[in-house]
Amino acid sequence: MGRDHAVVAIAGQIGVVASVALNLAALAFYLHGRIFGASAGEKEAGKKMKKAAAVAPSSGKPPVAPDSTINLDHGDPTMFEAFWRGTMGEHATLVIPGWQTMSYFSDVGNLCWFLEPGFEREVRRLHRLVGNAATEGYHVLVGTGSMQLFQAALYALSPPAEAGPISVVSPVPFYSSYPAVTDFLKSGRYRWAGDANTFEGDEYIELVCSPSNPDGGIRQAVLKSKSGKAMHDLAYYWPQYTPITHMLAHDIMLFTVSKCTGHAGTRIGWALVKDREVAKKMNMFLELNTIGVSKDSQLRAAKVLEAVADAYERQPADLTGDASLLFHYARRQMTCRWRALRAAVAASGIFTLPDEVAGFCTFAKDTVSANPAFAWLRCDKEGVEDLEVFLREHKIITRSGTRFGADPKVVRISMVDTDEAFGIFVDRLAAMK
Ligand code: PMP
Repeated sequence: MGRDHAVVAIAGQIGVVASVALNLAALAFYLHGRIFGASAGEKEAGKKMKKAAAVAPSSGKPPVAPDSTINLDHGDPTMFEAFWRGTMGEHATLVIPGWQTMSYFSDVGNLCWFLEPGFEREVRRLHRLVGNAATEGYHVLVGTGSMQLFQAALYALSPPAEAGPISVVSPVPFYSSYPAVTDFLKSGRYRWAGDANTFEGDEYIELVCSPSNPDGGIRQAVLKSKSGKAMHDLAYYWPQYTPITHMLAHDIMLFTVSKCTGHAGTRIGWALVKDREVAKKMNMFLELNTIGVSKDSQLRAAKVLEAVADAYERQPADLTGDASLLFHYARRQMTCRWRALRAAVAASGIFTLPDEVAGFCTFAKDTVSANPAFAWLRCDKEGVEDLEVFLREHKIITRSGTRFGADPKVVRISMVDTDEAFGIFVDRLAAMK
């Protein structure tokens, strides 16, 4: 291990020297162009670079028509695309020259040696801006989505396999991926044990998802044993979904660009970890699992977070217009969608939703309603025993309550899909009697 670290350190030094040299070369090239004017060859190279930056988009999801099947099973945050297609798109555009991000290493002096310093800086800056989580005294770790960090934290918090698997619990309704991911590899270190509300024992890992996926509720750990451990999944603790009421300071806090800015395809999440030993173990998991995390993705995520924070610094939040203010724009969109959904539920008369809740948001400096990323829709109509099946007959794909430890008369529905899909969904729902 000591030798490995020495190799890492030497490789890092070489990397730093090489990077400085390349930057100086790039600067010289740039100054040459500025002072002497670009040669025809250089101009051609510049044109090619611009062309390369405009990559062809992947097809993503197929477009929908009024009679299409509408898939609202996943929380795919395509709703945010309109924001980034607007004036803000340009601020978040990034060109990565062919020679960059080639090394495995990002910052050899850091516990998380594959963490891009620019990404860490923007993560801390965004939390300071929003006031949702403390970063002072925390280690920042980066993961391939927060789902990888979730697995890293399970590894770090669990005892060695000889001590027997520790119970992993979360209160019903829990996020459906928790049991699936926990038990996927049948680890000897941990095992899914279901509803935290009915768990008995002192040794456990409790998963606290707040606001909750699937029902949007604000949660705190339900188990209080001194030897128990908690992991806080705060994927939705952003101002577009819920009033920011506290600057949270839990031992392990997980976040993701997927839900914060909508860049789910970038696959970047981060963990704020208080304890150095836990952070080291999590880091070891990330090292052994994927030898770090894509630097290209980290640079993209850093650029996106930087664009969000810059816009707020340029224009105080209380000024009119929100085309450049992500959280204000997204909150307005979410508020409209929730209004439309509640109107459709009232028009139909066979469904119910959780009551609307509101609170004072320290970020918006106003009392605002919560707009969860998912609707937890119930149907008590006689003859409808399985709501997922009932909605599928109306060509609406949702996720059954049974996947979240709840009953089949309730389903989870994504509220963050495209405008087109959402519009067709609410129209269909309103017409159901
Ligand atoms: N936690 C929660 C509560 C989620 O809803 C999701 C995504 N659906 C994740 C974690 C995973 O996010 P990521 O895309 O960063 O892996």
